[in-house]
Amino acid sequence: MFPAAGSRSEEVYKRAQRVMPHGSSRKSLYDMRSYAHCGEGSRIRDIDGTYILDGSNNFMVLIHGHRHAPTMTALSEQLGHGLSFGLPVLGEVLLAEHLCARVASVDHVVFCSSGTEAVMHAMKAARSITKRQKIAKCEGLYHGTYDYAEVSNAAPVKPGFQGFPVSRLSSDFGMPHVLEDVVVIPFNDAAVTEQILREHAQEIGGIVLDLAPSRVGYVAADPSYVKALRRLADELGMLLIFDEVASFRLSYGGAQELYDVTPDLTAFGKIIGGGMPVGAVGGSAKAMKIFDPTEKGGVSFTGTFNAHPLTMAAGLATLNHYRVEDIVALNKKGDRLRAMIRSGIAKQGLPAHVEGSGSFVSIFFAPRMGNGYHAIAHRPEEQALVQRFWSAAMDRHLLVDVSARLNISTAYSDADVEEAAAAIIESIEEAFNRSQPAAA
Ligand code: PMP
Repeated sequence: MFPAAGSRSEEVYKRAQRVMPHGSSRKSLYDMRSYAHCGEGSRIRDIDGTYILDGSNNFMVLIHGHRHAPTMTALSEQLGHGLSFGLPVLGEVLLAEHLCARVASVDHVVFCSSGTEAVMHAMKAARSITKRQKIAKCEGLYHGTYDYAEVSNAAPVKPGFQGFPVSRLSSDFGMPHVLEDVVVIPFNDAAVTEQILREHAQEIGGIVLDLAPSRVGYVAADPSYVKALRRLADELGMLLIFDEVASFRLSYGGAQELYDVTPDLTAFGKIIGGGMPVGAVGGSAKAMKIFDPTEKGGVSFTGTFNAHPLTMAAGLATLNHYRVEDIVALNKKGDRLRAMIRSGIAKQGLPAHVEGSGSFVSIFFAPRMGNGYHAIAHRPEEQALVQRFWSAAMDRHLLVDVSARLNISTAYSDADVEEAAAAIIESIEEAFNRSQPAAA
């Protein structure tokens, strides 16, 4: 699959294999077909000169696509001032003011360098505030690579399974004690979740939830499930943490704005850094006090690159141009893309279906059986189809994320949406071996 024979990318890939494990620093990219050279709007040009329609946007980061002019200008201005300092910069305060004004549940916010760190700090905060050691998270959902977050993040899919999930390590030798500290609950199943939370009532400090998890096709969490978590957290003395690293893009105040539920803490990342490495934790003044450096017994929130000046500048410029009207227009394009794919699938009689919300799209090759992880997530027997779909899309110069997911940016024109829909439908057909590969 990687890379095209005789290409410049092949040459670079061979060099990469000599200096990195399987030639890569990023598991999700190790079998990519080419190396990126530059990007403009909705397209990437690779080092072989091929233009690719970008349905990844660096895994949901680039909400305005490549080289968004206001973001690039803000970055150039900051570059002129220097790179990083052992002093805070104004940009940090400006982005903090923006987020506090934008997200109703956020009175205070702190910045770090990745979504993984943001989730980790939020979990540590919940444990410290409650003086309880356990965290509850949903089976199968991805929250980055902190040990606690990784538990059961890729649990084997048992189609239609309902019941009590098992905590699993993410690798053969993870840290076994972590299993004792992470309680796994079933996404969207309030009754079983309630039983589990009650069973560990005295030990769980925080419940982490993604409101539109990628692993379940960005299907929105059921409002009654989210409300049940809030009610149980209040009753049992736990903190409710939303992981909005990816879902923040769905609405102006984050996906949480679509629910009548206020979390204690929220983890942010991806689009809020405008394309630069970023993470943030925000929440009520009461909960965020745990990060107050003058408080005794708080969580030590440190990091050489926390609130990096370039990130702060890029993030603010990007978010200033992601207004309500931009979000409404983008989400409409997402609706149109899903509708076009859905009608193409129906017309061709393909046994596939499309899920997603807002600007997120996810393709499945087996029927949906309900609202939970085992009802929606890709089954083991779909994996070969997922791979073939990715490769077929790449043949059509459309980059989708591994796992047959994609997202669109505000840089997508109507024509880009149509091009993506056509490439996706053809790629699904090809995955089922119903058509010949297009000429590359
Ligand atoms: N949480 C969610 C919901 C995510 O989608 C991701 C990244 N895909 C993370 C956490 C981790 O973020 P990062 O890759 O920046 O560490």
